[in-house]
Amino acid sequence: MYAPKNWCPRSWLLVAAILALFPAPADAGVLSAAHELSIEIFPAERRLSGENRITLQVGKSGRFSVFLRPTSRVRSLTWNNGETEYSVHGGEIRLTLPPETEGVLAVAYEGVFDDPYQARPPTMDNPGQGVLGTISSQGAFLLPGSGWYPMLRSPRQSFRVRIAAPAGMHAVTLGRLETFAVEEGRSITQWRVEQTTEGLPLCAGPYELRNGEADGIAIQTFFFPGTDELAPVYLRSSADHVRFYSELHGPYAFPKFAVVENFFPTGYGFPSFTLLGTEVLKLPFIPETSLRHEVAHCWWGNGVLVDYSRGNWSEGLTTYVADYLSRELESEEEAREYRIQVLRDFALLAKGKDFPLARFRSRTDPASRAVGYGKAMFVFHMARRQAGEDRFWEGLREVYAAKLFQEASWEDFAAAFFRSGVWDERERERFWRQWVDRSGGPILSLEGVDVSSVPGGWKIESILRQQGEPYDLSIPVVLETEGGQVESVLNVQENEHSFELVSEHRPTRLLIDPDHHVFRSLSPEELPATVNSIKGSEDLMGVLGSGWESLEPVLRALLVSLNQPQAPIVKEREARAEDLRRRDVLFFGTPDGRRGVPLPPDSLQLQGRAVPLEEVAGTRSLFITTTHPGGPAGAASFFIPQKGARVEILTEAVRKITHYGKYGVLVFDGSTVVERVVPEAVDSPLIVDLTGTGPRRVK
Ligand SMILES: [Zn+2]
Repeated sequence: MYAPKNWCPRSWLLVAAILALFPAPADAGVLSAAHELSIEIFPAERRLSGENRITLQVGKSGRFSVFLRPTSRVRSLTWNNGETEYSVHGGEIRLTLPPETEGVLAVAYEGVFDDPYQARPPTMDNPGQGVLGTISSQGAFLLPGSGWYPMLRSPRQSFRVRIAAPAGMHAVTLGRLETFAVEEGRSITQWRVEQTTEGLPLCAGPYELRNGEADGIAIQTFFFPGTDELAPVYLRSSADHVRFYSELHGPYAFPKFAVVENFFPTGYGFPSFTLLGTEVLKLPFIPETSLRHEVAHCWWGNGVLVDYSRGNWSEGLTTYVADYLSRELESEEEAREYRIQVLRDFALLAKGKDFPLARFRSRTDPASRAVGYGKAMFVFHMARRQAGEDRFWEGLREVYAAKLFQEASWEDFAAAFFRSGVWDERERERFWRQWVDRSGGPILSLEGVDVSSVPGGWKIESILRQQGEPYDLSIPVVLETEGGQVESVLNVQENEHSFELVSEHRPTRLLIDPDHHVFRSLSPEELPATVNSIKGSEDLMGVLGSGWESLEPVLRALLVSLNQPQAPIVKEREARAEDLRRRDVLFFGTPDGRRGVPLPPDSLQLQGRAVPLEEVAGTRSLFITTTHPGGPAGAASFFIPQKGARVEILTEAVRKITHYGKYGVLVFDGSTVVERVVPEAVDSPLIVDLTGTGPRRVK
């Protein structure tokens, strides 16, 4: 099942980074700030007007700045109801107040928020679309970085926020809901935020409010009328997830958890609520996938904060305890499948664009996702296997308890996991340095396998080879024999590690890490051609088959959604044989076979039987990826449209393909995927077949 999971850019936190760009006063200008914020939204004019009365404890210097959207207009600004001097530079209001005093700073302002957004973006690789603030007749979406209220830097801040909007339009932000009402023809919502270190996001829309509960925590949905029927499912799942993680990691730290609908597709996880687009909410698997992930962020990323200067660990950990763990709870087979997929994604999508985890901030494309979510998730998996089950989960509880609402780094986790003395300081250092500070992963192969009979059984000698600077690895090894399986662990630190195994029974296969517990760079023969091969291609060419020229826009839409907008499109009859041989190819239509265009397979394996291609081609739309040795990703894909399908249906179908990264074959009825096939790996340099008539040498 495809799951557009992990839609949670933490980029809104970058507002902190944006604030840091402004010249900082010599000392903390403001020691604490209690905001009484009242705003009114005017959707038709895409405008809001507001007044913020901030009770301030002014610091030693008395100098500080307040930030608003640069295009905003300050209507008035007073200090203790009297005039005070200030200057406005872009969105920055600079003030000097009497030092070490307390008083009320009142700012009245208004601004227009009209960032463009796409109701149907071609991909969700950047789930925030870069939109900071927008107000429309459908609602409002305002990140803290949009400057929708007067922001300032202070270690302690609290808020009471009152939002007035046309009747029917209510608003959601952090904290606890105090009022949800209609007064004098206007909708009034009021929220109370006791204490926060971060800025406030605000969303507004035609919300219906539904209430649930999980061990005393308010669970809420804010859905549009057309989606409201889904509220019971979301309330129940949210409550389950909140209970699950409270049990696993420690008590939930916010006054509510809410699922909030947005009028354009986003995937945001804010402290205490998640914001999802209408189409996403309607996908049946979201309550168990994306929602679980967003709830887990209330512990990791929004509960324990990220020290971004050392790399964002929160997506890796959240993916591990949500997306991965839910598979593991299903079965070990599902968990193994997930790990293989992460390794394949990394090999295909991060190739040539890889970087160390220490440099991951947020996901902006498939490569950064393969690193910041996939590889990072694997690092936690390896830590768990190294530290041991109890120590790992206890370590997470310790970090959560000690670092709630404070920044943590990879080192904090390392310290917690290994405090028990399983490793010494040097080993701990090395483990985190090779996984967090280095890019890439180990490249491993088995060489010189030698089998000999010895008194009482068999001896197997081999070398595990690593390319490049060697990693320090504890890697499982499995020897299959006629009498069963022998498992052990190799501790490897060098480029060539010789090892020896003995077995009472005749050995049949030698396998290194067959269940994929160790992160590594897969070799090409371990990577069957899939949608992700095309997505990760560094040199892709679109080819329009003869007779399909009028559908070029559909092929273009497909390329854009596969994150390949720059790929050229040529017509089959104009394609150069050289290009067709040397580049990865995405072919639209059925090749005529004359110009050296790679050809799709003659038959497809569907539901366990080989179906001749001509039997399905035309009656269904097909997307088939096959190997193409000449191209850099070694892949050629074919989209063969269903006969007579309308352009809109085909466009809708091709836009879905990007979500089916691990598949080699997709069969569409109209725009619905009705069958899909995950291809098998062809071979592995870490598996050696030892069967034969007698002892033999395998090279
Ligand atoms: Zn996330």
